[in-house]
Amino acid sequence: MSEGAAKKEEKPRKFQAIRGTRDLLPPETALWNRVEQIAHEVFATFGFGEIRLPIVEQTELFRRSVGIDTDIVSKEMFTFPENFREQLDLRRDYLAMRARELRNQLPAKDAMKSFISFTSDFLDLAHSTFSRGQIPQTAENKDSLDQIHSRILSWEPKVKQKEFQCTEQDWLLFLSDIVMLANRLEIGGLISLRPEATASVCRAYIEHGMQQLPQPVKLYYMGPMFRRERPQKGRYRQFYQIGAEVLDHVRPAETILGEVDKELRRDAVIDAEVIEMLMTFFGKCGLQGTTVYINSIGHNAPNCRRGYVEKLRAELTRIKDKLGPDSQRRIDANPLRVLDSKLESEQPYIERLPRIADHLCDECKAHYAAVKRELDQRDVKYQENWRLVRGLDYYMRTTFEIIAPGLGSQNAVCGGGRYDGLVELLGGRPTKGIGFAIGEDRLILSLQEVDKRSSDTGVQSPLATHQSPPLYIAWMGERAYATALGAAKTLRNAGFRVELPPVEQKFGTALGRAVQLRAKYALILGDNEVTSGEWTLKTLADGTQRKVSEQQLIAELKKM
Ligand code: AMP
Repeated sequence: MSEGAAKKEEKPRKFQAIRGTRDLLPPETALWNRVEQIAHEVFATFGFGEIRLPIVEQTELFRRSVGIDTDIVSKEMFTFPENFREQLDLRRDYLAMRARELRNQLPAKDAMKSFISFTSDFLDLAHSTFSRGQIPQTAENKDSLDQIHSRILSWEPKVKQKEFQCTEQDWLLFLSDIVMLANRLEIGGLISLRPEATASVCRAYIEHGMQQLPQPVKLYYMGPMFRRERPQKGRYRQFYQIGAEVLDHVRPAETILGEVDKELRRDAVIDAEVIEMLMTFFGKCGLQGTTVYINSIGHNAPNCRRGYVEKLRAELTRIKDKLGPDSQRRIDANPLRVLDSKLESEQPYIERLPRIADHLCDECKAHYAAVKRELDQRDVKYQENWRLVRGLDYYMRTTFEIIAPGLGSQNAVCGGGRYDGLVELLGGRPTKGIGFAIGEDRLILSLQEVDKRSSDTGVQSPLATHQSPPLYIAWMGERAYATALGAAKTLRNAGFRVELPPVEQKFGTALGRAVQLRAKYALILGDNEVTSGEWTLKTLADGTQRKVSEQQLIAELKKM
């Protein structure tokens, strides 16, 4: 290899962010912080408190809440085995392999002893993880562990006897029992990066006994979510959501007897307030041109959504040959999802399908009407969209989605809905819930579009001033350096952004650098300024200068 080629090989490898993830850099991060700050402020005014959640949860939580048939759970989660699971899996596989090897004939006593001792190690590990609750503490798991234990207890003394005898049949039975019992053990121990946060909020609500708090409990969160989707503009594998949830216990039927209307109203008000809060937030961010779509998907009962789904399925079956393969597959599994289809050729047929609004039960109809009334009263503009559905049983009544401009095909900036059955599904008491998740990446993209357009039209966007320009201190000489340090400290304490060059520069270089950094003012400190106590403040845009004393400086800057 030539010297040049060797040098080339030695070059350290460069790393890149992995597919679908990205770095958010300044100055854009200032916009992210501003948006998050607005969320904190607006949500607080509606009585919401922030919840910070873990980024990993047990995979089972998402399987149950998001649903095993969804794309998110079946294809898109980043899932890892916990350490104990890998250990148990490895040992279980080894047990099965040794059992296969020892099946052919009655093995030597030592081989038997070593198999039994290995089984005993496996049992010890399984037992300790079981007692720590790492593997599910179910009756079936306890029974498997007890049975393995009793097999070991009966075989251990046998193989220790000098005059040991057993039949091949007994030995084979022992081997197959151990393998069968070990395989029957449900180990769990898979964890996933969260693909969304509603499930975690419900888990936390149950885990921390929040049902004891005054209801409803109003929580919001923000942070990264992870889905292994095909990356494109506005769609990432690590993306950020800002979301809120309202959880409200279900009062026992006897206490609301005769107050059904009041209950319906309470739910409708909560739904409308959540949407109002969302639009207040978007308004404060300066997001323009949004459309709010709403719908009611009723509830999972024969006289309501279930009846509708049957009608829909029958109709879809009738027109099956007009549909694409995806929709054809969904007819049986989840016909509501056909309504999500974007396939051009299907649209005329979908438009003629039966609509859920004509099949809602009286209560769901009343609830939907009340939500719309409440939105009108709050001056929230919306459009009804009968095709806005959610495919899971626990979703009910209100669903909504918000579309923003400048996002291309990924134009949904927020999705939300009511999910009254979810907390119960996760082992909590009957609890009603509604929430939304804003795609923060898409919100920022859309705001940047608005920003671009407003700079074309000269209209100032509310986010345009998200970072104030720095003040540059051009100092010359060691005496001036000491003064500059003091000035920087005072100005920073007063909240000004200050750039203090680390080494002395020529006057022209310093001003050039100040312009590069988009500073508005330069504070010039040389020997003269230090001696006289009159500092020079230069406005970079027009080159004008004025003298200010140290005492006047902050007041002057604030005025300007
Ligand atoms: P969902 O939890 O699927 O209802 O999504 C709520 C919102 O999160 C959507 O309306 C999007 O704005 C955003 N979102 C969902 N998936 C992604 C993704 N892969 N990349 C960026 N934003 C996303």
